[in-house]
Amino acid sequence: MTTHSRVLFTAPGRVTTETVDEPAAQLPPGHVRIAPHYLGICGSDLHVLHGGHPFARPPLVPGHELSAVVTETAPDVAGVAVGDRAVIDPIMACGTCRACRAGRPNLCEPPNVAGFRAPGFGRTSHVVPAANVHVAPADLPLDRLAFAEPLACAVHCLSRIPDPADREELLVIGAGTIGLTIVRALRVAGAGRITVQEPDPAKRALARRLGADAAVAPGELPDGAAFTGVIDVVAAQPTLAEATARVVPGGRVVVMGVPNGPREVPLPSMQRFERDLVGSAMYVPADFDTAIGWLADGRFDTEDLITDTFPLRDAEAAYRRAEAPDSIKVLVRLAD
Ligand SMILES: [Zn+2]
Ligand SMILES: [Zn+2]
Repeated sequence: MTTHSRVLFTAPGRVTTETVDEPAAQLPPGHVRIAPHYLGICGSDLHVLHGGHPFARPPLVPGHELSAVVTETAPDVAGVAVGDRAVIDPIMACGTCRACRAGRPNLCEPPNVAGFRAPGFGRTSHVVPAANVHVAPADLPLDRLAFAEPLACAVHCLSRIPDPADREELLVIGAGTIGLTIVRALRVAGAGRITVQEPDPAKRALARRLGADAAVAPGELPDGAAFTGVIDVVAAQPTLAEATARVVPGGRVVVMGVPNGPREVPLPSMQRFERDLVGSAMYVPADFDTAIGWLADGRFDTEDLITDTFPLRDAEAAYRRAEAPDSIKVLVRLAD
């Protein structure tokens, strides 16, 4: 038997830590065993915790943002070794469908993502496919490495607005964790002037520090202000209305937020003036490698973004803290 601990959402709103004994199982071919170190908490986890997610409901083990150390590899695994520091891609894609074959496993259906349909990462030992392991440099601290998943989301978002012309004059609506990460990622990857729209003054100040040229509260943009690209990280009806109204002819709107229902768009002006509207959802494997590279060479600094770290025994406090508006990224430390 082996003993490990895990975070468990027992019922809507209830978080606990539990220790379980499991028979020591042999690794399936193509898999590795990992010792998870840091788990990031994100808004979608809180959604699951409160019973508001469409299909992932308590009781379950949550977690999809993880840094880990590889502790065992199946004999047929190459490219991943015991002792490697790694990030685990939580998308357990089928690998054979049209989307997977096209290199877009984020579009595999149904989405089989750790912490939602697949077993969550909030545990001290886990077995994952080697194909989902992204090895990081040995000197990259494991807490920073846990930020690779939200950063991969931002890197992917940038790939949805690849034309430098669309990045000349950008509006980012919403400066929560992902909005702030996008601002910094835009600065790293190259962008012109960045304006952020966000109601919280502290987050506006942080957006400025991370590279935004201007940060305004909703309603503060002057009447004719227009942007070559708009990233809507909120995806509510008012923010989408603002995004589609503010984008220039031929410009692009990226829906990065998760809308909780249908939204209206002004189709006549979108059609007549070739304004593009695209979505961005999770990431593809290459986005993780870009994220790890930026974290490793210091271009992307997590200092202002990781606001709290809690030990596993205080997981409940960690999830409460993640709900506080003045936290950005809260981590749970799964191993010492
Ligand atoms: Zn997340
Ligand atoms: Zn697939």
